[in-house]
Amino acid sequence: MMNVTLANGIKMPMLGLGVWKATDGAEVEEAVSYALNHGYRHIDTATLYKNEVGVGAGVRNSTVPRADVFVTTKVWNEDQGYDNTLRAFDRSQRNLDIEYIDLYLVHWPVKDKYKDSWRALERLYTEGRVKAIGVSNFLQHHLDDLLPSVEIKPMVNQLEHHPYLVQPSLQQYCKAQGIQFEAWSPLMQGGIFDIPLLDQLARKYKKSVAQLVLRWNVQNGIVTIPKSVSPERIIENSQIFDFEISAADMQAIDQLDKGQRVGPDPDVFC
Ligand code: NAD
Repeated sequence: MMNVTLANGIKMPMLGLGVWKATDGAEVEEAVSYALNHGYRHIDTATLYKNEVGVGAGVRNSTVPRADVFVTTKVWNEDQGYDNTLRAFDRSQRNLDIEYIDLYLVHWPVKDKYKDSWRALERLYTEGRVKAIGVSNFLQHHLDDLLPSVEIKPMVNQLEHHPYLVQPSLQQYCKAQGIQFEAWSPLMQGGIFDIPLLDQLARKYKKSVAQLVLRWNVQNGIVTIPKSVSPERIIENSQIFDFEISAADMQAIDQLDKGQRVGPDPDVFC
């Protein structure tokens, strides 16, 4: 599994399993164990998904040692603020029950709260309770507002990213700041399957449309976390390290960008 190295030296696998909408209990537990037993080393959950207990069981029941797995969870909006975030972290840790959390994210830039939430993450990081800390759904103006007051910069920014929402200037900004860009809804929640150019390119590379788009992510240096609970698709989505997309085709995919979201706009939602 290919890794990126975060600003603090921690290695993060470029492909992870997303588990939003995977039901707690057997469904998420089996998907997580299956993915880990078949090459994945990274799982992305959140307090909001209400499946941290099943994710933790899936990690513990897999054949992969804990030290080789990278687990992300996130503080939910209503838990933001300094004290609340510290408490939310404790709850997530109890729910997951996997010794430690690799990456803890501020899920959304909740107005008037995210700076306090960030101070809590800095404390958790400084105390060695989490290996890396970051944000999610932070646009450039949120980062411009946050960064001057931080002691530790976010190591990751997890954002909606797919061929219809490329956000090139935000990508460049994150890169310049040493913040790893991570893609959520990389498959546009299924929307990429209706785009003719992607069909055409997938046929050219003898890959599926999902594999093409996930390969486009990792070739651009973007960490990606497609969601599936189906064993066939979990395997399919991991077979992206045995081919290379040409520079011209990478650019052609970039140019599909329409600035079109399938999820909430951070400026409206928060
Ligand atoms: P996604 O783009 O990963 O698409 C998931 C959908 O595609 C599911 O319906 C799945 O069944 C289908 N699918 C998966 N593999 C397929 C394949 N090979 N062929 C055909 N269909 C396939 O959407 P997502 O779940 O919204 O995003 C992925 C992950 O990102 C989430 O599970 C979650 O972990 C994370 N996420 C984070 C945020 C955030 O605010 N930070 C928001 C949304 C999602």
